[in-house]
Amino acid sequence: MNAILGIEGVSKSYGKVAAARELALTAEPGELVTVIGPSGCGKSTLLRLVAGLDRPDAGTIRIEDEEVAGPRSWVQPERRRVGLVFQDHALFPHLDVTRNIAFGLDRLPRAERRARVDEVLAIARLGELAGRYPHELSGGEQQRVALARALAPRPAVVLLDEPFSSLDETLRAQVRADTIAVIRATGTTAMLVTHDQTEALSVGDRVVVMHRGRIEQADTPVSVFERPSTRFVASFMGDAAFLPAHVHDALLTCEIGVVSTVPGWGHVDVDVDVVLRPHEVALTASDDGIGVVAAVEYHGAFVLHSVRLPSDRVIQSWQPHSVRHPVGTRVAVSVVPGVTPTLLVGDETVTKPPS
Ligand code: ADP
Repeated sequence: MNAILGIEGVSKSYGKVAAARELALTAEPGELVTVIGPSGCGKSTLLRLVAGLDRPDAGTIRIEDEEVAGPRSWVQPERRRVGLVFQDHALFPHLDVTRNIAFGLDRLPRAERRARVDEVLAIARLGELAGRYPHELSGGEQQRVALARALAPRPAVVLLDEPFSSLDETLRAQVRADTIAVIRATGTTAMLVTHDQTEALSVGDRVVVMHRGRIEQADTPVSVFERPSTRFVASFMGDAAFLPAHVHDALLTCEIGVVSTVPGWGHVDVDVDVVLRPHEVALTASDDGIGVVAAVEYHGAFVLHSVRLPSDRVIQSWQPHSVRHPVGTRVAVSVVPGVTPTLLVGDETVTKPPS
């Protein structure tokens, strides 16, 4: 199957700021791609380039089989078959829900337009709100209208820029579930920008992690979390301790002791850093343990323990809610059996022994 969206070698600078550097990315039909990274890393720039609100300095962008931006091509935003949903919804305040949704359908004959609006109202469960104006809607309802308006012209791809960040915590989960359900039900290819790691991992078929204008990794949620390709991705996608470690005779050791075996690393003797996430770290109270509990955070179902090691580095461990080692307790620290931790040399992950 051909990709719906194809981005190749795309760069964009604003003055001296390189906001997008040689981006390469594809989205398959029906795929939901989440884009995440710290503020200023280029997420919005990527969306703006795809939407045609900005023109790349280099590279090409294809939507379906058409090149929409490139050295010798340029398709105007309104002709790109791209739907846009912004954080602030950007509904037309003087139009009711029906007319907001009908707005992008002016090229359709009246009867077809009416039918399409009704269809989209039903998909987004907005039928009862059809005659209301934006100020008569809750934040979540406005979000549904914004999505319905974006989907009405049957875009090839819908781009969502932090669509849930203006909603409060309780509303957010519900609106997110509704939005994803509508995108899935219509089979629409989508790219969603977020700054929320859990959101990126839980809703994306593929997660794109950006840093300083570059894509550091574009991969399945599981790969991004469990097999990060760089130090940045490992540190950005969830909490982790980075401990200096050593591989010798295929055995990985660090200050907590033996971490694991590293099959295939029998012939090397190298320094690495090992990445350990809180769910990979086990604790046992022990008078001759290596660590001392420095902080205990109760999260309800789980309790996060921060443990100070002899090097003064701190490692974290999730414990079940019934386990609470008080601050000051001496604990033995180990790695949960079966874990294959990420190893870094410099800023890059290594899966094979360095030569
Ligand atoms: P993000 O969405 O990840 O927060 P942006 O794509 O908005 O990041 O911005 C990437 C970088 O480009 C930032 O350093 C930002 O300040 C800069 N930038 C974005 N738009 C403009 C613009 N129109 N003019 C100048 N600099 C810009």
